[in-house]
Amino acid sequence: MREFDYQRAYDVSGAVALLDGDREARFLGGGTNLVDLMKSGVERPARLVDVRELPLNRVEPAEDGGLRIGATVTNSDLAAHPEVRRRYPALAQAVLAGASGQLRNMATVGGNLLQRTRCGYFADVSSPCNKRDPGSGCPALTGEHHNHAVLGASDHCVATHPSDMGVALAAFDASVAYETADGAGELPLADFYLPVGETPHLETALPPGALITGVTLPPTPTAANSRYRKVRERASYAFAIGSVAAALDVRDGLVHDVRLAFGAVASRPWRARAAERALTGGPADAEHFAAAADAELAPARPLPHNGYKVTLMRNLVVAVLSELAEEAAR
Ligand SMILES: Cc1cc2nc3c(=O)[nH]c(=O)nc-3n(C[C@H](O)[C@H](O)[C@H](O)COP(=O)(O)OP(=O)(O)OC[C@H]3O[C@@H](n4cnc5c(N)ncnc54)[C@H](O)[C@@H]3O)c2cc1C
Ligand code: SF4
Repeated sequence: MREFDYQRAYDVSGAVALLDGDREARFLGGGTNLVDLMKSGVERPARLVDVRELPLNRVEPAEDGGLRIGATVTNSDLAAHPEVRRRYPALAQAVLAGASGQLRNMATVGGNLLQRTRCGYFADVSSPCNKRDPGSGCPALTGEHHNHAVLGASDHCVATHPSDMGVALAAFDASVAYETADGAGELPLADFYLPVGETPHLETALPPGALITGVTLPPTPTAANSRYRKVRERASYAFAIGSVAAALDVRDGLVHDVRLAFGAVASRPWRARAAERALTGGPADAEHFAAAADAELAPARPLPHNGYKVTLMRNLVVAVLSELAEEAAR
């Protein structure tokens, strides 16, 4: 590992100033992803600015009735927060479906959003990879890609985003607040991750040097009837091969409101807008749920070894929405 300097920031403007203009510096959250990448040589920062002592560790009511979650709230504290569990249960479930208890105690909300892909070629510095080394190629296209993207990918990169938390945040229209030397800004999660296109190394729309300060969830009554379901290759301590965050409001047997997002199928948490459109106003039954999933998955372009994800996601959507519809009918 390359030698590096370490500094701890105690206020937001101080943290931003410490990183400002230094391309070789990185913010350090829980370090559960960044430090691993430093050990493997994927990340080689000359300076780390530790943000864990910033006063951003609270979950608070937002002015519009939603919730504001500070960037340094740990994944454990987020999942345990009574308002998150009561009003956005799929978010608590998504966070608890990730990593392990020890990791969740360290990992922060900001770091979780910015964690890097788990594509094996990305983590192996002896291998080409367009995301790590632009223009070097994408060996996953013809190599190991059973857990790679089926939606929104390009010939330049087919990696998936690994966050479980981000999938629930996408379903609930979260936005990400940040601070730079030029002032504060906010990005809807829908615009936070950039499309892959020809530039997979450019992952987010955050300005250079931006510190994530928090995530805001709008008040969404439908979110109270929500669920996160993750499929993985081991029962615990494994990343998703497919996941769904869903919230459903059924009235008189018809879908009044629905929120749906997919995980582990694209370079970002995938908001399933086509499925939501197909569902809204129609009958809350398995046939309709399957047709909506098909509408979302129609543009899927699987590779030779990950076509199973299309069937998996269709079945997940039907299962999760059917359970939510049953609960709504009780
Ligand atoms: C064995 C293992 C299993 C895992 N399983 C899962 C899983 O199943 N599901 C899942 O979702 N995740 C999983 N994870 C990933 C884990 O959730 C992430 O490593 C963690 O959320 C990252 O948070 P962190 O605070 O440790 O980030 P760090 O590692 O500190 O930082 C990650 C990135 O975010 C940047 N950063 C951190 N904070 C800020 C900020 N406030 N503003 C701007 N930039 C910032 C850093 O510079 C770095 O680039 C797993 C990790 C491990 C090691
Ligand atoms: S899928 Fe993306 S991250 Fe993986 S090797 Fe290809 S370019 Fe790199």
